[in-house]
Amino acid sequence: MAYLTFDFVPRDVKKIKTKYREIKTAIPNPQSVPVLKQLKKYEPRSMGGQPPIVWHRAEGFSVWDEYGNRWIDFSSGVLVANCGHLREEVKKEIVAQLEQGLIHNYCFPNVPRAELAKKLVSIAPEGFDKCFLLTTGAEAVENAIKIARTYGRKIGGDRKIGIVSFDNSFHGRTLGAQMAGGFPSLKEWIVNLDKDFHQVPFPDGYINEDTSFESFKSALKAKGVTPDMIAAVITEAYQGGIAGFADVEYMQKLRQWCTENKVLLIDDEVQAGFGRTGRMFAIEHYGIEPDIICCGKGISGGLPLSAVLGKSEFMDLYGPGEMTSTHSGNPLICRAALKSIELIIKEDLVGRSARLGEIFHRELNKIKDTYSDIIGAVKGKGLLAGILFRKAGTKTPDAEIAFKVVEKCFQKGLMVYAPLGPGGGTVKINPPLIIAEDAMLEGILVFQEVVQETLNS
Ligand code: PMP
Repeated sequence: MAYLTFDFVPRDVKKIKTKYREIKTAIPNPQSVPVLKQLKKYEPRSMGGQPPIVWHRAEGFSVWDEYGNRWIDFSSGVLVANCGHLREEVKKEIVAQLEQGLIHNYCFPNVPRAELAKKLVSIAPEGFDKCFLLTTGAEAVENAIKIARTYGRKIGGDRKIGIVSFDNSFHGRTLGAQMAGGFPSLKEWIVNLDKDFHQVPFPDGYINEDTSFESFKSALKAKGVTPDMIAAVITEAYQGGIAGFADVEYMQKLRQWCTENKVLLIDDEVQAGFGRTGRMFAIEHYGIEPDIICCGKGISGGLPLSAVLGKSEFMDLYGPGEMTSTHSGNPLICRAALKSIELIIKEDLVGRSARLGEIFHRELNKIKDTYSDIIGAVKGKGLLAGILFRKAGTKTPDAEIAFKVVEKCFQKGLMVYAPLGPGGGTVKINPPLIIAEDAMLEGILVFQEVVQETLNS
């Protein structure tokens, strides 16, 4: 898909000074343009498309550039800073680990790795007793697929290796993760796709109105895929592209179907976990438990860390040295992650996300009702919302409006990342879970102003 891109032309935007926002220069700041141009010159084009704001500092729910402009962060650095950017407590852990004098020791044991593995198992569903630490979300997904396929072969032979996933799903940009992903345009380059990856419609109730579990079975039947050919079903706890949850009854039936057919249910919580939706793991909204969980992003509050969680029956399939990664269990990162998880628990950020989320969604739904011609739906739960912009009165995503909305947001001191999702029409907003209520409301007011201005322009 061709994405719209922001230009680097500084614009004289309205000056703003409030309790939480300050815009006092042209945006982007003229002095930051050489940095933007340097990135464009030396990085692949794929790294473009980002809002042209060069971040200098981020703390709590605020982001600053080098020139004194300040934004309310509605991005969490794309769903990472759940406990807030660079919390003092997390910083102390990082500094203490530096002072202790150990920042890397693969492949030898260290204490923070042992503590973090224990902590993650302690917050995982009942029966989960193992944690494999990795670096990126895609890596967690790759390993979950590897584990599931290995288990499938063990119990069902070479035939039981299929991975079922959903249309419009996203699981990362490495080979296996992309084949599990449900955007055909992202995997054209693979050409000879693994024929044991299958996609079925996602029962979100908006893009796909058929939320009956029959649709799952009939989609597989139409592809000639039977349960003895399936090792696992992998699903995002909610689909990131639209912040859309699946139908609850469908998910409960899917859980039952997986159990009956000895198919593992892999829950990709890379962006959904650690309180984002008002539950520690978003799958809790369905009242079911998966067999394997992939974590990432919000797990550490900012440093690169991911994890696969599961039962030893699956997690112990590989022998020593057969499933590892160089940065697995990095002591500096584990220490930061431990503190970040501790903060999420101690400050009940999960409950906070649920409570503030109600106000967040109530206010956003008011905006949707006022501008229902161009906003088709507000999806998500907790401090996660996907605003689905559409061509007036249809369900066709409107990438241009979404793009203008994001541009006006960052020009007004509200940090929002580029639109995404099917057709590029989703503007996703997700502040750190520690955001002050008045800052959140200020951000929503800015959002409303921006939608109105976009409509007028
Ligand atoms: N799974 C999901 C649901 C994601 O949202 C993402 C990243 N957006 C990934 C996997 C991949 O994570 P990473 O970019 O850390 O590889």
